[in-house]
Amino acid sequence: MTVHRECIFCKIIEGEIPSAKVYEDNDVYAFLDISQVTKGHTLIVPKTHTKDIYETNEEIAAKLFSRVPKVANAIKKAFQPNGINILNNNEAAAGQSVFHLHIHLIPRYGKEDGFG
Ligand code: 5GP
Ligand code: ZN
Repeated sequence: MTVHRECIFCKIIEGEIPSAKVYEDNDVYAFLDISQVTKGHTLIVPKTHTKDIYETNEEIAAKLFSRVPKVANAIKKAFQPNGINILNNNEAAAGQSVFHLHIHLIPRYGKEDGFG
């Protein structure tokens, strides 16, 4: 596992910064976003540091993306949303603010979540 000392998500994976864990295995870590867009907003990150989708090799990508259904189902069970948005921002112009690859899972509840 490659850890970048200055990376906030590497510190979360290492447990140096506390987080609300949603799922973990040898390859990925999933945790609640600190400023949740909706209840249950979760991020999944590879345990190996990689900056964005352009710098990500197929092995890391396969591990990360293959866990999305499992984490989506965990969110569905825990928060019982009516839907879920899954997205990934790359580079600042696309909204990336933490430069450790991550996938957002954003549960949707309809009108009451402010986006319905
Ligand atoms: P991005 O904008 O890069 O796609 O998403 C980064 C996300 O990381 C943001 O939604 C932001 O709220 C979240 N975030 C930033 N710092 C922390 C932190 O220390 N803990 C947690 N749980 N989430 C964080
Ligand atoms: Zn990192």
